[in-house]
Formats: sequence, C-alpha cells, structure tokens
Amino acid sequence: MNQLSDRINNLATSATLAMAAKARELRAEGKDIIGLSLGEPDFNTPDFIKEAAIEAINQNYNSYTPVDGYVELKEAIIKKFKRDNNLNYTLPQIVVSTGAKQSLANIAAVMLNPGDEVILPCPYWVSYSDIVKLSDGVPIEVETSIENDFKMTAEQLEAAITPKTKMIWYSSPCNPSGSVYSKAELRALADVLKKHPNIYVVSDEIYEHINFKGGHFSMAEFEDMKDRTVTVNGVSKAFAMTGWRIGYIGAPDWIARACNKMQGQMTSGANCIAQRAVITALEADPSRIKYMVDEFKERRKLILNLLSEIEGFKTNEPEGAFYVFPNVSSYFGKTIKGKTINNATDFSLFLLEEALVATVTGEAFGNKDCIRISYAASQNEIIEAIKRIKTALS
Ligand code: PMP
Ligand code: GLU
Repeated sequence: MNQLSDRINNLATSATLAMAAKARELRAEGKDIIGLSLGEPDFNTPDFIKEAAIEAINQNYNSYTPVDGYVELKEAIIKKFKRDNNLNYTLPQIVVSTGAKQSLANIAAVMLNPGDEVILPCPYWVSYSDIVKLSDGVPIEVETSIENDFKMTAEQLEAAITPKTKMIWYSSPCNPSGSVYSKAELRALADVLKKHPNIYVVSDEIYEHINFKGGHFSMAEFEDMKDRTVTVNGVSKAFAMTGWRIGYIGAPDWIARACNKMQGQMTSGANCIAQRAVITALEADPSRIKYMVDEFKERRKLILNLLSEIEGFKTNEPEGAFYVFPNVSSYFGKTIKGKTINNATDFSLFLLEEALVATVTGEAFGNKDCIRISYAASQNEIIEAIKRIKTALS
C-alpha cells in the first residue's frame, strides 16, 4: 500500500534530472550515450575559486553559518548586484540558499496560499510548476510562440491575470528557449503590472552572464518594480559550480526575512565552504569567466548550423543560456524504424533509443511541440550527436 503523502505522490519527478539519470544508467549498461539533457556546464570550476574553498577548509570554516549566509558573502552579492545589474540592495534584503532551486522553493513557500495563481510564460524552467504546486499554488501557463521568440507579450500577461494572481515567474535568459527579454519588453510587462499592485515578480537571472548579445536587464531596475520583484541568481551556470549548491536572492525586506525564517527550519543555511568560495567567485571580474561564455557562443553557432541541415527542426535563435529548443512537431504522426512518434516525449525517447542521444521533452517545460537540447557539451560531442540524430531520422 502506498503510505506516502498526497504531496509527494502528486509531485512530478524533475524531467531534466530523470533524463540525466536514465542516460547514466544506459551508460553503465555499456551504451555509448551522448548526454545533451542536463543543463550543466562541462567545464571545471575555475582554479581561483577552488583555491578559495581549500583555504576555507584549512582556516577551519566548519561551523553553522548565519542562516541567510555569511555577511561577507552577502556584501559580495550586494556589490555584484550593483556592479552587474545597477541594483541597490541592503544586507537584510539578501538571502543565500542551497542553490537557486531552494531560493525558488523558499519564495513559493513564503508567498503562496492555497489557490494562489502563478503565471508562468511557457516554456518555463522544468521545476517552476512543481515548486509552485508543492506550496499549493496553481501554475497558470501562458503559451508563447516561436514567432515571438517564446516571449510573453503584455497583452498575454494582461489576459492571464485574475483576482487570484499572486506572482509571475520567468527566467531571462530563459531555460529552455534561450530567449532574453529586452528592457522595452520588460517595461511593457511592468506597465501591465502597474494596474495590479498586488502581483509580485520572480526574475530568475541565473543565466545572466551566458548572454551572447549583451544587454541583460533586471526587472527590479525599474523603480516602480523594485519593491515587487525578487531577483534570483546563483553560481551554478556562469561559474561552473552546479554541485556547490549556492544560489541567492535580492528581495524586499519582508520577503527576505520570511525566506530566512523558512530555511532556518529547513536547512540552517547553505554549506560553509561553498559560501566562502562564492565570495571569491562573485568578487572576481566577470571577464575571468568569459572564456566559458565564448565557448558556449561557438557551440551555439555550431549546433544551430548542424540542426538547420536536418529537415523538420524549427528553432528560434537563442540569445543566452546553453540550450536550443527546436519545434519537432513535423515528425508527429510518423513512424520511423518501427516506432510511432506522437509527441515530443516520444521524439525524445526515440532519440535516446535510436540515436543514443539524451535530450529532454518540451512537455517538461510546458511545451508540447519542442525538445530541449543542451549544448553544454564539447564541440566533438555536439557534432557526433547531431550526426547520429540525422542518421536516425533519415
Ligand atoms: N533557474 C533556472 C532557470 C535553472 O535553469 C536552474 C538550473 N539549475 C535553476 C534555477 C536552479 O539552479 P541551482 O543549481 O542554483 O539550484
Ligand atoms: N537546471 C538544469 C537543467 O535545467 C539542471 C537540472 C535541474 O536542476 O533540474 O537541466
């Protein structure tokens, strides 16, 4: 008998992590899988950051940290927000967490009452909807189009708002579409929100530095949005530190205080060594990590070129992050190698079984027609993966 709670029974497994686990399993069986499913840089954490961690261990940083993070780290975050985002936050407005994922879970837990609606422009990052549901919120998916670069327009936002709308969550650069909202596009959304002063925004900026066009803009830069926006960021992506598990927020004091209280009961704060290392990471000039961004840019060019040679893949041109999100719906209804492909999940499984390439179905991101391909892999792996996909489909 299933004795588990409804809460966990109703929770979906993270599709990105599940696909990565499946790829690992198949590899252990001896299959030569190319993993393009996980959004994880394939670089090593830069040496200057690793050295800071080693030094912290040797200096005996081993005790509980303040629940919301070391003051020195919070100061480094404040400087980073000022330097990179033109945002002025004070110490009580910063909370350091065990990854941006926990920052998001904190926000949902402290902001949502049962039935509160959270608008999610689709495609959205895989965990948004389940994190919202876990806190008894109701995700409201707003479908966007490839023609509009997968971005939500002001009209769409306006149409999605109801008396129950509590928040809007989006990422820019976006996981999975790579889309970047311009200042003007964000202003148009903010203008709609002017009429709805009780709606709050989560601006997830974890891919901020992986932006090929430049011009990152934070919603909180608008004076009239600052008190209604939680800016989420972290070091997983730009600094190749996924396993170190450090994320953070800049937020209105009352929200930050609530997140602090929440994680005081949940984790007692983030890992002490990782926090010390992140002080060094954030104090460094972003030029020190540019070599990774440059390489992602090369890979983007490569994968877009290669995909354009496969019939039936329609992509937007991602401006940031390290994903392409092609529409593959022209394959739906077709039978290839005896396998019928009816949807994006079938397509992704087909690629895993017949091309030995792991991708993620768009359904995990609230989009039925696309699959997500991560190009956080070497150029050789990308070339080989797309060659295999082309062969499997031909
Ligand atoms: N937001 C987005 C858009 C992401 O892609 C990820 C993926 N890791 C996260 C948040 C969570 O990041 P972290 O590793 O800091 O928990
Ligand atoms: N954010 C990454 C991804 O989208 C890592 C996996 C996860 O945290 O779910 O693939």
